[in-house]
Amino acid sequence: MSSAPRCPHCRHFVYLDTLVCPECEAELGYHLPSRQFFGLRTGRATIAEETWYTCSNRGWGCNWLVREDEGSGRCFSCRLTRTAPDHSDTIAMEKLAKTEEAKRRLVVQLADLGLPIVSWAEAPGGLGFDLLSSISLGRPVTIGHANGIITLDLAENLDDRREALRVKLGEPYRTMLGHLRHEVGHYYQNVLITDEATWAQCRELFGDERASYRDALSRHYSLGAPAGWQSDFISEYATMHPWEDFAETFAHYLHITGTLQTAAAIGIHLDADVTSMRDTDVVPRGSYAREPVQLLLADWEWMSQAFNRINRSMGFSDLYPFDLVAPVRRKLGFIHQLVSHAPLTTEEQFALATPTDTERA
Ligand SMILES: [Zn+2]
Ligand SMILES: [Zn+2]
Ligand SMILES: [Zn+2]
Repeated sequence: MSSAPRCPHCRHFVYLDTLVCPECEAELGYHLPSRQFFGLRTGRATIAEETWYTCSNRGWGCNWLVREDEGSGRCFSCRLTRTAPDHSDTIAMEKLAKTEEAKRRLVVQLADLGLPIVSWAEAPGGLGFDLLSSISLGRPVTIGHANGIITLDLAENLDDRREALRVKLGEPYRTMLGHLRHEVGHYYQNVLITDEATWAQCRELFGDERASYRDALSRHYSLGAPAGWQSDFISEYATMHPWEDFAETFAHYLHITGTLQTAAAIGIHLDADVTSMRDTDVVPRGSYAREPVQLLLADWEWMSQAFNRINRSMGFSDLYPFDLVAPVRRKLGFIHQLVSHAPLTTEEQFALATPTDTERA
């Protein structure tokens, strides 16, 4: 889907998390299958002769719609959350709302890429989220992925806390969306690599994932990343273990394709005269599924420099503070091949995501 979401009444651009159009004040609901906003009348919209209701978490900022026969008051994204704080814990609930916003953005991107999204509620090992607060629980929450379930610490939505961790760990970038994109990379590594030949290819690029994770963890936290890691890896954390290298690289694939898609949706392009290094304009695409990874990376090289300049002009640090060296480009090429191999249509994704009555019985 390559056009930016708009209000159906006044055609004003709206952000993905909009509940009420800022221009005409219409109540809006987001419809995932069409990636469009619909106007609401008494909390419902009729779309292709079906009735869709607002998600029961609308009071917590969820603007998605639920089809009347889905058997739940919660939308597809909210249902992926397996564990959340108690509703009486209002401080944690505010942090949950911010995290759910990032998660909905992730789900839209996974849907756009045509990746299968099978919920934890429908199949063992399916995708799910345990969204816990280390502050409410009074104990640390380890961010991670195990058997389809992604665990996040909602306390990372506190800017001072997340920024302190970022500085302590020496990371150039740390966001909730970044965590989500990394952890979902662990999930998709197992979903998308299904045969030995592909695993062999993966091991050649990322290393053998059967190496002890426990040893890797203690080595990483006692010795840090090896000297000169920048010539092979996207980040220090990626050096820890082949699983982490894959997840870090997968997260970057989502950063790059997601940002280029937004640029395409709002019509940003760079003139060849300005870049002077290319004969043709840089015109980002909504999808690179049918394009070689070289085009994706060439477009990104120019667009990321342009975005870095824009950020600097506001006194911010770079939008994309990373270098894509040749080995990392090869790893991204492997992920591009995995992700763009026979993407599912939205109908197929939702046939998988919504069990039929017989499956439910
Ligand atoms: Zn409007
Ligand atoms: Zn929802
Ligand atoms: Zn990880």
